[in-house]
Amino acid sequence: MRPRIDRDRCVGAGMCVLRAPDTFDQDPDDGRVVLLDPAPPPHRHASVREAAQTCPSGAVALG
Ligand code: SF4
Repeated sequence: MRPRIDRDRCVGAGMCVLRAPDTFDQDPDDGRVVLLDPAPPPHRHASVREAAQTCPSGAVALG
């Protein structure tokens, strides 16, 4: 799994960080998403998938 983020679409809602805090964080300056782990291990895939599904702006894609 290779999550991708689109910082231009991100509105800083933080859902991804709540769902998958080991994979996503928020930039302290603008609140927008930061990708911590571009290749999360299998035991994190469910939470990363949930993060992508709950992001209100569609800023998280899964590859
Ligand atoms: S859930 Fe979506 S909009 Fe919110 S911080 Fe994460 S990527 Fe950005």
